[in-house]
Amino acid sequence: MNKPVELKLDTVPVWINGKAISSAARFGDVFNPALGQVTKRVVFCNEQLIDQAVKAAAAALPAWRDTPPLRRARVMQRFLDLLQKNQKQLAQIVTEEHGKTLPDAMGSVQRGIEVVEFACGIPHLLKGEHAENVGTQVDTHTVRQPVGVCAGITPFNFPVMVPLWMFPMAIACGNTFILKPSEKVPSASVRMAELLQEAGLPDGVFNVVHGDKAAVDGLLTHPGVSAVSFVGSTPVAKYIYETCARQGKRVQALGGAKNHAVVLPDADLEFAADALIGAAYGSAGERCMAISAVVAVGAAADPLVRLLDAKAKAIKVGPGDGQDVDMGPLVTAEHRDKVASFIEKGKKEGAKVVLDGSRAPLKDGFFLGTTLFDRVTPEMEIYKNEIFGPVLIVLRVGSLEEAIALVNRNPYANGTAIFTESGGAARRFENEIQVGMVGINVPIPVPVAFFSFGGWKSSLFGDLHVHGAESVKFYTRTKVITTRWPHQDTPAPGLNMPTLG
Ligand code: NAD
Repeated sequence: MNKPVELKLDTVPVWINGKAISSAARFGDVFNPALGQVTKRVVFCNEQLIDQAVKAAAAALPAWRDTPPLRRARVMQRFLDLLQKNQKQLAQIVTEEHGKTLPDAMGSVQRGIEVVEFACGIPHLLKGEHAENVGTQVDTHTVRQPVGVCAGITPFNFPVMVPLWMFPMAIACGNTFILKPSEKVPSASVRMAELLQEAGLPDGVFNVVHGDKAAVDGLLTHPGVSAVSFVGSTPVAKYIYETCARQGKRVQALGGAKNHAVVLPDADLEFAADALIGAAYGSAGERCMAISAVVAVGAAADPLVRLLDAKAKAIKVGPGDGQDVDMGPLVTAEHRDKVASFIEKGKKEGAKVVLDGSRAPLKDGFFLGTTLFDRVTPEMEIYKNEIFGPVLIVLRVGSLEEAIALVNRNPYANGTAIFTESGGAARRFENEIQVGMVGINVPIPVPVAFFSFGGWKSSLFGDLHVHGAESVKFYTRTKVITTRWPHQDTPAPGLNMPTLG
């Protein structure tokens, strides 16, 4: 095994078979969004490098899948320890490349670490079923076996947490893995590869490749890849799902979101407004579980909008590693401009501007202020599209029924929340709402690692969600074994359909 090497920050390398590779035909720029400057370059993989990664993962598979789960769990325990020791460093990398504030980055790394804690329990999670005497002298049992070489393709907004949703469980289940993180935030994945090596993971079990569509397509069409996990925008999720399904690969593809929070007039509005402000503007709105649409019911609307306005105005914008900063920049100039164009669209289509954050609050960097729109209607583009920035819109409806119908008409269905003091209203919402993750007075209902994360409708293509029990199902195949040990009393098998009775 190689000695861990310090990550070279000038060129972000790929990590194949336990080694960093920095030479390539193509590179991409990596920005520090708070400075608005290129600070590193990242290797962009061509077909050859992708093939090299798949071959390394395939070569490592036989020994790793036969390593007892208890030993795999011990590697995870050491990895967990190293992640905890390096949590701040990983969070700093996230802040530097993504822009979110350091405390927010620390929290996101923590949520990823919790998946590794769950993966440490893999010996128990992999246990199969056994039934004795299912027929005369016949027993049946099931085993869960790894799927093979798995790939993970992840978005820019959680450079540590979203990769950790995937590879710890895949590896703990006995698979080998190739991660293709977002090319905008590539460094943290390579750092995690170094930590895994330090934890004793054999070379080739975990590999990191970088790049754009060419690298992704290389993985999707490679016959050596058996399963693909994807998290990103809806159009790309749909493409990943369809391409993998055509190739006969197992696939889970999590897409974008437009998350509604319904606020009833009986809610504690001060509490609801605080929760909504954090959920809408935290991480500059670049969260798939961000609340981007408030559905104010009846008399809740006027006082709620006044509270949101005051609290949104008070948010301090600045570099993510700055003192007392609540909200950092957006990830790229291009994304900032796209978000700003939605603000202009909202004004043109007649939404009421309560707070206009379109003027950059700082000279350098990809910053925007906080924007709040009131009296938005479902036909408006600012409602129909995922903006993925610090823009909160308020829609007004007359009743809980109308609110539920509005949420259920939206094609996205990742997360939603209701704010109310009424148990009956909350129970009805929980029962009737067609969304994958629901919060009752909880604005961002991201399930803890031992439950599974995933949306419905256009927010998920595939069947199984990430982490929790569903990840064990995704990263393993079940085999059912029926056993008979014949002796003198065993009836002879005949030609008819065996009933085993
Ligand atoms: P994206 O879809 O642009 O990129 C995601 C990944 O796909 C990246 O690794 C990227 O390199 C790759 N990619 C981009 N375009 C591609 C193409 N045409 N073909 C093949 N691969 C391609 O997403 P993003 O902008 O990085 O992230 C933001 C999006 O991710 C938002 O829509 C957000 O809602 C979503 N997201 C969803 C969840 C969830 O759990 N559902 C979590 C985080 C982010």
